[in-house]
Amino acid sequence: MVDQKKLVEVAKETLARKDVKYIIGYKKGSYGFQTSAAFAYTPKDVEQFIFTPLCNKNLAKYPLKEEKLPLKRGEEEDKRKIGIVVKGCDSRAITQIIQENGMNREEVVLLGIPCPGVINQKEIEKRFPNQSEITEINEINDEYVFTIEGKEHKIPKQELLAEVCKTCDYPNPVLYDVMIGEEVEVNPKEEYEGIKELEEASLEDRWEYWEEQFQSCIRCYACREACPLCYCSTCMADLLEPQWIRRSVNLSENTAWNIMRAFHLAGRCINCGACENACPMDIPLMELNKKLGKEVKEMFEYTPGLDIDAKPLLGSFNPDDPEEFIK
Ligand code: SF4
Ligand code: SF4
Ligand code: SF4
Repeated sequence: MVDQKKLVEVAKETLARKDVKYIIGYKKGSYGFQTSAAFAYTPKDVEQFIFTPLCNKNLAKYPLKEEKLPLKRGEEEDKRKIGIVVKGCDSRAITQIIQENGMNREEVVLLGIPCPGVINQKEIEKRFPNQSEITEINEINDEYVFTIEGKEHKIPKQELLAEVCKTCDYPNPVLYDVMIGEEVEVNPKEEYEGIKELEEASLEDRWEYWEEQFQSCIRCYACREACPLCYCSTCMADLLEPQWIRRSVNLSENTAWNIMRAFHLAGRCINCGACENACPMDIPLMELNKKLGKEVKEMFEYTPGLDIDAKPLLGSFNPDDPEEFIK
């Protein structure tokens, strides 16, 4: 478990710096097993910071969303840095964004959290439905421990751990200014095991599978809003001229949206699972993301979000790049 006191102490020290505007961390949510992003402008705000197994959102989404607000007439841009609490996957998202020139390294101060893994939100909400009371969860000796209506529950970690965390190769931040705690041990497992069955299915069966999934998409775009790498100021899905995707919610347009989303993340997705976590229709978006990630790795030996000085996959060319797919 991350030392909460240390987290608050480091965040306060960082906020006291003259060149830091505010810090983004996690706080308890307003109900059940939710946590939410917290924006700390004062030392008092920092005191609400937590890091628990429920901190499963990707905070790399927020600096861009916040900073993209237009300035008022005559308003000067505030160029102070933004502090962000980052797990391994948040730090990879920031790294990828910097690599793509979406932000500069100097614009952020990263408070690194060695991440022991987070809880699968949907799984815990399934087991304890309609839980409105704010519930805090601690990890003790490979068990998640929490109390609901006076009753203590202990659930083995592996039963509730998010799927992405089970195969995470980078739980420790790859980019940070200060690390809060000792690095956690990395036990890499077969990352693509979960998509093996689908890969082995016939083309017809795969198509049928995805048709069924996309049929239920309601085009709420929660997947896009949760994704730290979906930061274009105008998403192609919202364009009216040219209109790439019609507004109608039907299989054809839903398929277009989901394929477009997945392809825009190819070579950029850092496997945080925030999109799938946000999807209210339980569409297995990580299966698509993983498949594209696997293809990219095998074809170009490229893993996104590891090095701010590397070139983005689609912005680089190597004469030895495979081209069998170009007819
Ligand atoms: S994917 Fe890795 S860094 Fe991200 S929450 Fe899971 S274990 Fe932590
Ligand atoms: S979050 Fe799910 S339902 Fe909403 S647009 Fe994305 S895939 Fe469709
Ligand atoms: S596509 Fe999903 S898993 Fe990939 S970076 Fe975006 S939110 Fe994370």
